[in-house]
Amino acid sequence: MKMENDSGLLLVLSGPSGVGKGTICKALRERMTNLVYSVSATTRAPRAGEIEGVNYFFKSRAEFERMIAENELLEWAEYVGNYYGTPRRFVEETLASGRDVILEIEVQGALQVKEKFPEGIFLFLAPPDLAELQNRIVGRGTESEESIRNRMEVAKAEIELMDKYDYVVVNDVVDCACEKIEAIIMAEHLRKERQ
Ligand code: 5GP
Repeated sequence: MKMENDSGLLLVLSGPSGVGKGTICKALRERMTNLVYSVSATTRAPRAGEIEGVNYFFKSRAEFERMIAENELLEWAEYVGNYYGTPRRFVEETLASGRDVILEIEVQGALQVKEKFPEGIFLFLAPPDLAELQNRIVGRGTESEESIRNRMEVAKAEIELMDKYDYVVVNDVVDCACEKIEAIIMAEHLRKERQ
């Protein structure tokens, strides 16, 4: 897929579970009014407080598999026993309207997007260290012990792939990480304007 020059930027934010992608995305959207969040589809059960169409589109496995079969997803992956995927049409239409889109997705999905959308900007949010990551997942209070163990295993594998990203930002202090990502987005816009 080729991005038109007046189309928005596609930003892909990955990083292990618990690293703070959700918090960073929320803060970025408050600061950058041209940035639109892509709501993913998932077969995972909603957590307390999660809203259909805001946090995710919650799907049965059968419905998700239908979306895969009908090519409705830009990318999809299985993560700790559930499907997650990005609805394609929303991303394409929003980019074409000139707005930037941010995908908050795990590594396998990000690598699929890179194949289809090499002009995308790939950002990896890294934890200060693994012990701090585990503290954050446990502190969130949303996961069972088994889910925490699985998420930590996946986190180690994801961190090994961070060299495939254009930028690695350590999420030590949220405001600092956010400022760095905002600076990256502004710089990438300036670069695109010259092309
Ligand atoms: P959680 O269950 O904690 O909401 O998400 C688990 C992981 O799935 C996170 O790393 C999150 O970024 C990722 N994820 C969320 N939506 C998508 C998606 O549409 N595609 C892919 N590949 N990963 C996703």
